[in-house]
Order: sequence, then structure tokens, then C-alpha cells
Amino acid sequence: MRTERILEEIVVPAYEGRSALVRKGQVLYIVDMEGKQVGDFVCFNAADPQEHVSPVHMRASLSSIRLKVGDGLYSNRRQPLMQLVADTVGKHDFFFPACDYYRYKVDFGLEEHPNCHDNLRKALRSYGLGERGLPDPINWFMNNALDENLDYVIEEPLSRPGDYVALLALTDVVVALSACSQDLAPVNGYKVTPLMMQITTGSSGS
Ligand SMILES: [Zn+2]
Repeated sequence: MRTERILEEIVVPAYEGRSALVRKGQVLYIVDMEGKQVGDFVCFNAADPQEHVSPVHMRASLSSIRLKVGDGLYSNRRQPLMQLVADTVGKHDFFFPACDYYRYKVDFGLEEHPNCHDNLRKALRSYGLGERGLPDPINWFMNNALDENLDYVIEEPLSRPGDYVALLALTDVVVALSACSQDLAPVNGYKVTPLMMQITTGSSGS
């Protein structure tokens, strides 16, 4: 039973991105509304956006390539900006880049395909962060398995409708989420669907 109060609800339409400010102590829920949908996610320290969540630093600080409830989302300054506090799926990626213009041009010969890189930059414009380099993302619900040779096999997400992760803000953060635009590979089950961000008071909220 979730007891906290919802402060803001933001639907991230298929093939688009959205951003939000999450205050220290608030909890951000990222909900897979229809299932099998990856969400590419970046997170900045609102007080100093030079600091951002950094997957390469996360892997070092966590000494792991697996994300677990309780783990911090570590920054390029080796501080956790958020903490994973609930997860109904348990399978995510923090290795792969966001899909971008070149992914569709080089691998599929498409010039005009929507992509997470552009979705995230566009979404971040409202916080003045759209023109800087984009950090590597965490790809919530992305299900890339390793085979016996330690080569990647991209499989459909395990998430079902309503599955979510919950992230506690440890400081004020600006986040952006893209409903991954990849419809030419199994990553989203060949169908792009919306996600939702819910910002709540957190369990201690009143
Ligand atoms: Zn994508």
C-alpha cells in the first residue's frame, strides 16, 4: 500500500521525453503503463548541473553491474543523487547509450526516426539543460542478457502494465525520461508505448 501523496503526474507519450524537478525527500515513480517499455533516464543535481548521475561511476561505486533496491544512483562526483527504493521488475540496464540519430541512420538507414537522445535534450530545455552534452542514461526496464560468451542479447523487457521503479531524491534533482523510440528491435517488444512519472511526498511526507 502506497501511503504517500501524489504531487505531480507527468505522462511521457510514446516517442517523446519529459523532464521534472524532484525535491529532496520526494519519491519519483517511473511507471511502465502498458508494459515492455524502456525508459531512458538522466538526472542532474539541480543546484549544480555539472554534477549528474553517471553509469560508469555507478558501476564502480556499487561494484556491480546489477541494480538492486537500496542502491544509490551515483554521480560523476561519486555522490548518490537518488536511491532506488522500490522495483517491481528487477531488470534494468546501465551500459547502453540512449538511441540517437546515428543509431537509426547507421543501422537502419533512417534519417527522421525519433530518438531518445533528442527527446531528452528537448525535454531538458525547460530547465536550461538542453544544449549541454547529455550524460549516459540509465535504461529502466531494458532487458539485455549476457550469453555464455558474455555477449549481449537484447530481449524484451520483463515489465508488465503498471510495473514501476521508485527513486528517492537525496538532493534536489532535475530528471528527464524518454519513452524509448526504438520500434525496430526487441528492446521495447517492437512497440513504443507511454510511461508515467509520478512525484510523491515520500513515505515520511504529510
Ligand atoms: Zn531509445
